[in-house]
Amino acid sequence: MPVASWSRIRTWRRCHRQFDYKYAQRLARRKPKPPLLRGAILHEMLDARSMKLNPIKILDGYAKQYKSLFVEERELYGDIIEDLRRIYQGYDMQYADDGYKTLASEEFVATDMSNNLRFIGYIDKRVVDQHGRQWIMDHKTGKNIPGADARYSDLQLLLYVWAYNKEHPTDRISGVIWDYVRTKPPTIPELLKKGGLSIAKNINTDYATYMQAIEDNDLDPADYKERLTDLQAQESPFFRRVLLPNPSAKMVEQVVEDFRNTAIECVTLSPVSKARNMTRDCSSCEFHSICDAELRGADADFIRKNEFIVKDPNEHGDQEEELDN
Ligand code: SF4
Repeated sequence: MPVASWSRIRTWRRCHRQFDYKYAQRLARRKPKPPLLRGAILHEMLDARSMKLNPIKILDGYAKQYKSLFVEERELYGDIIEDLRRIYQGYDMQYADDGYKTLASEEFVATDMSNNLRFIGYIDKRVVDQHGRQWIMDHKTGKNIPGADARYSDLQLLLYVWAYNKEHPTDRISGVIWDYVRTKPPTIPELLKKGGLSIAKNINTDYATYMQAIEDNDLDPADYKERLTDLQAQESPFFRRVLLPNPSAKMVEQVVEDFRNTAIECVTLSPVSKARNMTRDCSSCEFHSICDAELRGADADFIRKNEFIVKDPNEHGDQEEELDN
């Protein structure tokens, strides 16, 4: 029976050519674009955190790989290891006592959408709150935290609610949580020439980073009490959780219906349609180089061999992509 996952359908909606590269040819970049790599490592670390493993060990593993990169590759990725370390520390501090317990991470869910179409997907996290309600929590990484309008295009999480509840009618999910994490790290406050840290309010930082800077410079937190209190009180510009409790049956039904219709179109047309959907977003497409070479009649095979690998068909590849690039 044909299967449809959200990432396949999202790609199909975006561009049929991109779908062909990604799912028919199973191409993936040898060197992922920096925002994607940041997002992928952060996801791994957050998975480890929820499974009570040590996320810093994961980062240390990447640090070893990072050291073996060529200079130009390191320039491409920037100081990704230290940035991620700071982002993770801030996240860990922000949600140290969030009251959610993880029941499952990267959980496979599958259910029939019709007699000849099956939905498959991976739930980032299934968590339970202090009142015993279950939620789907989805980590969304990106340069910025989107507003409510942008979240409209992220309602696919309701598909997972529908699929899970269909398969587990006595153990239902109550709602979804978008767990936004910015991949831009908080700024480390500057050490002033006259001594001490800058207390300027326009520094885009957070409590964990500011506190760490105090410790790193052997300063006394009491001298920065006001700034620390402000940072503790403000809504974090780096992390945000947005909850959608009890989505209505009508809303879920419409998301499922739209998905089903596109999935049927995708199953029918994807063997034949490789049409490009060229937009300004093409510059951030991971297949831009090969797509462009094929369009211009340049040596696309050379690009294919040098820049891409062919992924294992068993890799699920259903991870979320970046919010923005
Ligand atoms: S570069 Fe644009 S047209 Fe080409 S595959 Fe990517 S999204 Fe499609």
